[in-house]
Amino acid sequence: MSSAPGQAYYRITVKREGEGIDRPAGVVSTYLHDFVQVGSILEVGSPAGDFVLDQRSDTPVVLISGGVGLTPMISMLETIISAQPEREVTYIHAAINGSLHAMKDRVADLAQSYSSLRSYVCYESPGEEDKYNRSGYIDLSWLQEIADVNSEFYFCGPTPFMKVIYKALKEWRVPDDRIHFEFFGPAGSLEE
Ligand SMILES: Cc1cc2nc3c(=O)[nH]c(=O)nc-3n(C[C@H](O)[C@H](O)[C@H](O)COP(=O)(O)OP(=O)(O)OC[C@H]3O[C@@H](n4cnc5c(N)ncnc54)[C@H](O)[C@@H]3O)c2cc1C
Repeated sequence: MSSAPGQAYYRITVKREGEGIDRPAGVVSTYLHDFVQVGSILEVGSPAGDFVLDQRSDTPVVLISGGVGLTPMISMLETIISAQPEREVTYIHAAINGSLHAMKDRVADLAQSYSSLRSYVCYESPGEEDKYNRSGYIDLSWLQEIADVNSEFYFCGPTPFMKVIYKALKEWRVPDDRIHFEFFGPAGSLEE
């Protein structure tokens, strides 16, 4: 789910899990990409879960995503912009490079229109034409430069990415009740 709640529609954003050298193509994601079209009818479950933005607070928010983990972050970003447009939000996305950066234009448009939104991009291996703020990986010293420690932190992405972010936030002494995350695979521990 990548849209804000309360709309007349839901938007989903799906990464195609294509075939690799040692793995077959993902069944559902390739079906959605290859066969489902506008007008297709699918039987789906309703959205559920507890990884949701706390809208009772107006504390600054930092949204950090890696790869496909951006979907709940985009949903939260759109929620803040429609329901709390004055609330400060720092959106940080990590991707391999610009060709694998989903919803780049959408976030750039929002950042142009809302002065309360600051958006940062980190590419692991940027291409020659790519525009980004940092190459390599997100680390604590960069987070300290661009984010306010007194924020609510939300993050989602591959487990190794989440471990790095969690460790950085703990080192920065962000209290547990301001750290929120979701696994995009089997839930596990982020502690070393
Ligand atoms: C809470 C939550 C939210 C999520 N939200 C999103 C989202 O918004 N967007 C999104 O794109 N994804 C999201 N994901 C991840 C998504 O669920 C998976 O990418 C998706 O389920 C893949 O489904 P699939 O049927 O395409 O692949 P599957 O067929 O289930 O395969 C999954 C992976 O396992 C590999 N695999 C399968 N069989 C084998 C085998 N025999 N040997 C080796 N490897 C194998 C496949 O190559 C593939 O990479 C979310 C996950 C969770 C838990």
